[in-house]
Amino acid sequence: KQGELIKQPGIEFQDVHFSYAESEEVMHGITFSIKPGEKVALVGESGAGKSTIINLILKLYNANSGTISLVDQSRAKATTPLDYTSLPHNFIRQHISLVFQDNQLFSTTIRENVAYSNLNANSEEIETALRQANAWSFVQKLPQGIKTEIGERGIKLSGGQKQRLQIARAILANRPILILDEATSSLDSKTEVEVQDALEKLMEGKLVIIIAHRLSTIQSVDRILVLDDGKLIDSGSPSELAGRKGIYSTLLKYQIQGNKKLLASYEIY
Ligand code: ADP
Repeated sequence: KQGELIKQPGIEFQDVHFSYAESEEVMHGITFSIKPGEKVALVGESGAGKSTIINLILKLYNANSGTISLVDQSRAKATTPLDYTSLPHNFIRQHISLVFQDNQLFSTTIRENVAYSNLNANSEEIETALRQANAWSFVQKLPQGIKTEIGERGIKLSGGQKQRLQIARAILANRPILILDEATSSLDSKTEVEVQDALEKLMEGKLVIIIAHRLSTIQSVDRILVLDDGKLIDSGSPSELAGRKGIYSTLLKYQIQGNKKLLASYEIY
């Protein structure tokens, strides 16, 4: 029986193999563990297996072999890891907030969107979450404030505004594990700074997994896991990995070259 949620869960993968139904194996024996409060980025080329790891953490699929577990590290004494096979999908999901680029906001009020996972929240709590997410200033200016309808029947929001509403939702939900799909869509630089700042507040004290698309924004993580073709081929701090030959330093080099071209196009060197 799993009634009570784990306050400080860690995540462990032990020799995990996985294939999507009827297709070839795409995860070939992945082992890692992430401690409560640790910030980890998943890096690798498209198709390397980043999303698959997230799908498995969310228990959208079950591993073919090996074990995935939540470890309760809130107690002084080490406790037995809780094997995913014995945990209901719902129990696992109650520990996790997602901030995904294409995450659904619903065609309803801002209030309901933010309070989605915490229906008992009062207006004050919702306002606090919106403030921490750097969203309050634009919400306040809307015709009906937090009661404004968004989406199909309501007003259209910009990409940066939608992201900040998702961040507010995750702040209010206050779950110990946060999974971030780093935005690839470009935001103007002021919005970018506001979103980054909101994300940093949200990440505080949480176990965070970032699916990294742009390497420049993950320089502050504790650890990078480098994936290639369903295998974990390297891991280390950003500076450790940048300093040695490998996929990460190669990707970093390409990105810097790309940025140089971009800067050159603005005649900034
Ligand atoms: P990434 O997120 O790093 O781009 P994915 O985890 O999406 O990589 O993909 C890992 C591998 O799994 C790829 O070979 C991909 O083609 C395959 N894959 C992803 N999703 C599915 C699916 N729903 N069904 C079958 N194969 C899939």
